[in-house]
Amino acid sequence: MKKQRNTAQKKIIYEALVAADHPTATELYERVREENSRISKATVFRVLSQYAENGEIRRLHMLGSDDRYDAGLKPHAHLRCAFCGKIQDVMFPELAPVLSVHSIKGCKVYSTEVDFLMCCPECEAARAEHKNEIDAGVCLN
Ligand SMILES: [Zn+2]
Ligand SMILES: [Zn+2]
Repeated sequence: MKKQRNTAQKKIIYEALVAADHPTATELYERVREENSRISKATVFRVLSQYAENGEIRRLHMLGSDDRYDAGLKPHAHLRCAFCGKIQDVMFPELAPVLSVHSIKGCKVYSTEVDFLMCCPECEAARAEHKNEIDAGVCLN
């Protein structure tokens, strides 16, 4: 009985991860909690760790952020906005050989993460808008 409940909870957590966009464990817990108030934060953290250790999902170590989780297992890199933190999957032909490297300088490579830091169009537009106001001498008060 207990095992069945665990399986059901794992499925709910996995499906929430697929629907979410590279969430941290805390973000995913908040999402799961909206519909399943009986799933604890500890369960979400434990299940995510188990999935990651089994290679069923990816755990992303990103500079300046808590670990994020990704249900996408196909080789891809991430494009991350340095201002709002939004993350998009990105893949192009030149990346394939980099992401499939198995050894470098005699060391076995067990995981490769490519994280491009950028300014997304929305943040770029917000900055440009603000810049115009400043340039025009508009009083923001
Ligand atoms: Zn942004
Ligand atoms: Zn991804």
